[in-house]
Amino acid sequence: MNVSQNGWVVIAGLGPGNEALVTQEVRDAIGEATDIVGYIPYVKRIEPRDGLTLHATDNRVEVDRATHALEMAAERKRVVVVSSGDPGVFAMASAVFEALENNAENHPDWLDLDIRVLPGITAMLAAAAAIGAPLGHDFAAINLSDNLKPWSLIEKRLQLVGEAGLAMAFYNPRSKSRPHQFARALEILREACGADTLITFARDVTKPGQELLTVPLKEATPEMADMRTVVIVGNRDTRRVGNYVYTPRYAAEG
Ligand code: SAH
Repeated sequence: MNVSQNGWVVIAGLGPGNEALVTQEVRDAIGEATDIVGYIPYVKRIEPRDGLTLHATDNRVEVDRATHALEMAAERKRVVVVSSGDPGVFAMASAVFEALENNAENHPDWLDLDIRVLPGITAMLAAAAAIGAPLGHDFAAINLSDNLKPWSLIEKRLQLVGEAGLAMAFYNPRSKSRPHQFARALEILREACGADTLITFARDVTKPGQELLTVPLKEATPEMADMRTVVIVGNRDTRRVGNYVYTPRYAAEG
């Protein structure tokens, strides 16, 4: 059978925004696709062309979107599911595997579909690079949205990770629907990490209008973050050198 007659699903990361940061393998997959599936602003980044159907959907329907992608691949379509950044970081790759698992009984044939995850540059790495090297030692990445987990668990993780002396990167730091939570997060961090620890707010990284702001935790205010911001908190050794922020590669005993 001709390979092109087979369907597939590629879950691709489009990187943080700058088109130069889209990998060649992601470009190639989009070039071969018959269908693109994803959240509206990400699908907007795909150039329309004959033979390519764009399926843009609203947020919070990740598993429906993933199931649709698998259905289309089973119909021999070549489907690219797009995420921003990396598809495995708080994004669509897990949603596709969740949909695959949910349908394992109804559609056991889907388990043999050609499914590939193509990495992209995730927001925290683009932000870290823009300010220097704040993630040069151990760190944790935490999604501050309580859509898929209770806020109490987020508070516990902030506390423990801060006490463990890890740097942190926060995705989805603050939305209009939960304005008080980020203020509480800052409170916990000041306590667990020390008020002089540096925090960076990186907004629209690699896009026109990129904004970078680094302050000690004691000067951080909730308004410094929104949903277009990735936040990086250093460890106690994170420091400035010239215009840069970096974390040394070494640490003393905790
Ligand atoms: N899969 C994506 C993350 C999706 S969650 C990735 O790997 O980057 C969405 C969150 O990512 C946003 O709320 C924001 O915290 C962060 N983010 C994505 N792109 C960004 C950018 N260009 N600048 C700053 N933050 C960004």
